[in-house]
Amino acid sequence: MPQMPALPHTAYIGLGANLGDAQATVRAALSALALLPQTRLQAQSSLYRSAPQDADGDDYVNAVAELQTALTPHELLARLQAIEAANGRERPYYHAPRTLDLDLLLYDDAALADATLTLPHPRLHLRAFALLPLLEIAADIAIPGIGPARPLLPTLAGQAIARL
Ligand code: AMP
Repeated sequence: MPQMPALPHTAYIGLGANLGDAQATVRAALSALALLPQTRLQAQSSLYRSAPQDADGDDYVNAVAELQTALTPHELLARLQAIEAANGRERPYYHAPRTLDLDLLLYDDAALADATLTLPHPRLHLRAFALLPLLEIAADIAIPGIGPARPLLPTLAGQAIARL
């Protein structure tokens, strides 16, 4: 009997899009995550609509995915960037609207910062559009170095976000 390879790590990915058919882009990105090697798409949140923050343009469509994976954090980041590139992401200027943005929010309880990767994602605890979908699929999640995520939500109550 062929054995499923072990997928020992849990990672949470934040997805956002605000150009073109943003809902279709987020759904396509979820499908692409499900096809990553040595990885299983374990759960996905609802889609949400949020007002742009630190960015220009239309409202964003956001979601969060839970992956079980054998990829390392840096391998996973490279895969996320390839999916962004395949979805035509262009950055003509800083904070420009983007076709698709994929953030590695959490990887197990890793806490690290190097030239290409910071974990946990440094703005996860500040963004309702990441925290709300994350808590939908991981109700009791804690952010390394910060603590349980759910009590942070009231501090972000001023950020406009609605479930689609
Ligand atoms: P952004 O344009 O905001 O998506 O940022 C992309 C840049 O952030 C890339 O150069 C990544 O190497 C870097 N980065 C650092 N930490 C992370 C993370 N946890 N998830 C995604 N990108 C990250």
